[in-house]
Amino acid sequence: MSQQPPPLPPHDADEPIFLEETSFEEGGERIDDEKGRIFPCEGCGADLVFHIKTQSLKCSHCGFEKAIGFSEDESVDEQDFYGMLAHLQELREQQSDEEGQNQQEVQCESCGATLMFVDTVTSSECPYCASPIQLEKAHTSDKRVPVDAVLPFQIEQEVARQNLRSWVKSLWFAPNEFVEKGAEGTFHGVYLPYFTFDSMTSTHYRGQRGEHYYVTVGTGKNRRQVRRTRWYPASGAFQRFFDDVVILASRGLKRQLIRELEPFPMHLLVPFRHALLAGFTARTYDVELEDGFLLGKERIDAALYSDVCRRIGGDTQRVDSIQSQYDAITYKHLLLPLWLMTYKYKDKLYQVAVNAATGEVHGERPYSWVKILFASLAAAVVVIGGLALSNR
Ligand SMILES: [Zn+2]
Ligand SMILES: [Zn+2]
Repeated sequence: MSQQPPPLPPHDADEPIFLEETSFEEGGERIDDEKGRIFPCEGCGADLVFHIKTQSLKCSHCGFEKAIGFSEDESVDEQDFYGMLAHLQELREQQSDEEGQNQQEVQCESCGATLMFVDTVTSSECPYCASPIQLEKAHTSDKRVPVDAVLPFQIEQEVARQNLRSWVKSLWFAPNEFVEKGAEGTFHGVYLPYFTFDSMTSTHYRGQRGEHYYVTVGTGKNRRQVRRTRWYPASGAFQRFFDDVVILASRGLKRQLIRELEPFPMHLLVPFRHALLAGFTARTYDVELEDGFLLGKERIDAALYSDVCRRIGGDTQRVDSIQSQYDAITYKHLLLPLWLMTYKYKDKLYQVAVNAATGEVHGERPYSWVKILFASLAAAVVVIGGLALSNR
């Protein structure tokens, strides 16, 4: 069999992937000069950053290394969904009596200035002395859902770059010049907020199973076989447990593209430590836990619909009703690692993302419309040729 070209580009190929591209760019550049002062080197006083190869903090000046410790009884635990919602509601009621909602104060360790945290970027710089600061309280504040676990960066920037090169070379209908030059730009290491949900679901369904049969109709030259469908009632009930339904909890990115980077290897999760973020940008969630679950429920419902169709069976199915109950809902709030890049080709900006745990690459790319046109013409020739042969 010959290799089939992929489908033509989607209509929204011109839309930016990162809807608020500036927010991550700014966040990335601010911390990118690797001056995070919250982890000074014990050897020389320079700044320690998270080192991917050793999975520890490392000083780029004197080579000093500091392990990130986890005690044996620490584990990444599932949290009670409704328990947290009730807790947040309580805090909201308390908070409405207080001034300055949604703002948190952080002190700059360099100059002592007091800063207000209002954005969803948790790594930033002091507007008074330009020292990079990690807005630590944002991740531990009891007014927000705390981070349960981090998946530390596994893929070094150089490996991400190599994967990006291979990705560019693998693209169909890409301009030759782009394939030769590749995507050039600055990679930003970013931890994005996610919620994962577990739930035991119980589903009752009612529908019809369709079975095809064929009848011969017409006479003489018009005699032919026609497909008919006989319908039988079908209903039932079943339970299914969903484990780790992953939902991106940041609005600044195009959900579908980032979703294509899944799966993330969840067995590499470790309990949250600020040290893991040193040298990277981390965003706090701006999709609330409840809304995150609604997105998770959409995914679960789609899977349940497929289950129902499979259970109804036959050649085709009609689904009249599905009723599902979601029990034992638990969640985890995670930070997952990505390398993000914006590159320019012929004065147009494109964005790509690399899963920094698996190396998987997805993103925007330029298309060669000339190549697509010729491919379409070639396909048309094959179709017309085929018709000509069959009509001979
Ligand atoms: Zn040092
Ligand atoms: Zn300062």
